[in-house]
Amino acid sequence: MKAIRILEFGGPEQLKLEEVPDPQPQAGQVLVRVHAAGINPVDAYIRSGAHVVKPALPYTPGMDSAGVVEALGEGVTRVRAGDRVYVAGSLSGTYAELTLCGEHQAHPLPASLSFQQGAAVGVPYATAYRALFLRAHAMPGETVFVHGATGGVGLAAIQLARAAGMRVIGTGGTEEGRRLALEQGAHEVLDHHAEGYLEKLSWLSGGQGADVILEMLANVNLNRDLEIVARKGRVVVIGSRGKIEIDPRLTMTRDASILGMSLINATKEELSSIHAALVAGLESRTLRPVVGREIPLRDAARAHEAVMEPGAHGKIVLVP
Ligand code: NAP
Repeated sequence: MKAIRILEFGGPEQLKLEEVPDPQPQAGQVLVRVHAAGINPVDAYIRSGAHVVKPALPYTPGMDSAGVVEALGEGVTRVRAGDRVYVAGSLSGTYAELTLCGEHQAHPLPASLSFQQGAAVGVPYATAYRALFLRAHAMPGETVFVHGATGGVGLAAIQLARAAGMRVIGTGGTEEGRRLALEQGAHEVLDHHAEGYLEKLSWLSGGQGADVILEMLANVNLNRDLEIVARKGRVVVIGSRGKIEIDPRLTMTRDASILGMSLINATKEELSSIHAALVAGLESRTLRPVVGREIPLRDAARAHEAVMEPGAHGKIVLVP
């Protein structure tokens, strides 16, 4: 099969299309023919060699994909050959024509969704779900501020929060992204590059501030989040690309909490419960993954450049 291989950590140019042997499913494993693979920012951090996760070289990147079950290892009962599935987590990497995953990592993909949409589910939706419900314990009626709402995680968070009865305010850096966030269910969308946009957030929340803030760029926004979080509010740090100075008094005066969230810390039980909820949302069509860009597998380097650029509008997926 064809697969993207990384022989050395470094820039996007390290992503090379090669011919490799087809993986064979062992007991408890599922082999999936990949129709689309999701690109996540973490794939680029890992490729650079600067991430805590350092796979043994050479390796095939990617955690998310969608396709059709090709073969089963011994003892697999949850899926059958020919099933449409989305794959959340992979044993062999997803930037390839075939991917191997554990039985618990393959989830049913409803016929109403394309494979490209299926490839946009894994990391983004599980991250948004875990941040919103398992870390922040967001409740219906609360105001949720999705600070960075135009990318994979942000759009997932908008759909999840809106479906659960929360008031949702998002931000985007481009007109196109902000329009998309509104279409996907945000009640209001602000421009995170505009002067004084957070004052508008205070005004929109009747001076109360946001009960829950899902933060995609904490190294830029965390201190300002603390100025606009409600009493007993929770700021969940989902993305951060550097350091920031904060005033801890801001948490004190509001009884507010800053919560870290890494999907890597999710237990098998948590993931199983998260994906049960996500599959139900996909089936009922309350969750509708948005694909912004499709890029051929051989151009994976271009996809890694694109995922680090501003101006997100949905998910970037690779197509073999
Ligand atoms: P993405 O699709 O590339 O989207 C990036 C988002 O960040 C866009 O909405 C972008 O908005 C927004 N952004 C850019 N500048 C911003 C600013 N100044 N203030 C607020 N938001 C800003 O990436 P993603 O997959 O949604 O992931 C988002 C972040 O979460 C990334 O840093 C990623 O590494 C991290 N993440 C963490 C976990 C975890 O387990 N903790 C899991 C998944 C992702 P515009 O492009 O419209 O400006």
